[in-house]
Amino acid sequence: MKRRNFLQKAALGSVGITALGSSITATAATPKKAKDKQDVLASNSLLPVVIATWSVAQATKKAWQSMEQGSSALDAVIAGCGVEEANAQGQSVGIGGLPDREGRVTLDACVMNEKGDYGAVLCMQNIKHPIAVARKVMEDTPHVILAGVGAEEFAVSQGFKRENLLTEQSKKDWETWKKTSKYKPIINIENHDTIGMLAVDKNGTISGGCTTSGLAYKMAGRVGDSAIIGSGLFVDNEIGAATATGLGEEVLKTVGSYLIVELIRQGKSPQEACELAIKRIIEKTPNFEDFQVGYIAVNKKGETGAYSIHEGFTATTYQDQKNTTFNPNFYNEK
Ligand code: ASP
Repeated sequence: MKRRNFLQKAALGSVGITALGSSITATAATPKKAKDKQDVLASNSLLPVVIATWSVAQATKKAWQSMEQGSSALDAVIAGCGVEEANAQGQSVGIGGLPDREGRVTLDACVMNEKGDYGAVLCMQNIKHPIAVARKVMEDTPHVILAGVGAEEFAVSQGFKRENLLTEQSKKDWETWKKTSKYKPIINIENHDTIGMLAVDKNGTISGGCTTSGLAYKMAGRVGDSAIIGSGLFVDNEIGAATATGLGEEVLKTVGSYLIVELIRQGKSPQEACELAIKRIIEKTPNFEDFQVGYIAVNKKGETGAYSIHEGFTATTYQDQKNTTFNPNFYNEK
């Protein structure tokens, strides 16, 4: 299924399945007498691992390869997300992303490293690789978030090239939308998705990134969850990491990625934690039939989890030399 249509399909095409079990979580064989964390990690065949939202095998492969060549988990995430940002055919991140309702492509992205450092850009125009700019914010400024024109000017000062991100196709789609839409400041549920990527290197060092063009045809200035720490992404190198895709407003209200990492801290598996975070949204939001949220997570051992409200969510792992794209289980009360 094309990523971009999944929310609409999910809302319209619900089937009667309630699936709270995990079919995708691998179980690590933890040695019974491991003396310390290093022993556990040293014997763990689940590492390194990359997991990303959606069907992005080229991106996970790139991230994996970069760790194989000795790069850090953070480098891997930047490289992996960069593949999708540079893909002009993809209409959800980087160049080609669908614009806001005024026709401007505005991008949000963030990264977190193993030290718990965080950097983000919000609502940035004209720069194809917001994830790399987010890293620069984290590493080369005294701040953690730069927004709008300031983010763009900072990017240019760091050597990033300004370019037009509105492709002919995305412009055409926007023009069609203008003809048919009521042009109200509403959340356009059928048009959004995001690349969130988590990487754990062979030593168990965790980093993550999240990059998006946000809701298509959103109000000018709208920012979703993707670049906001704890919502679209959270990494705690002692515990694990999580990232989100779907309706950012709902992820923000439940601080979803932070919730997942805290649940893992309390002993839940990444799969159980993703399921509980989705249930939290469902409990709090009676109209959950109308929108989609999907989470992915990983723990320090390399165990993964993924879950969404409705069917139609896809995730990709690169683990044990294999790239696997799969449809995670989902909650659907019908
Ligand atoms: N979560 C993103 C946002 O709300 C959009 C998406 O994942 O499609 O901006």
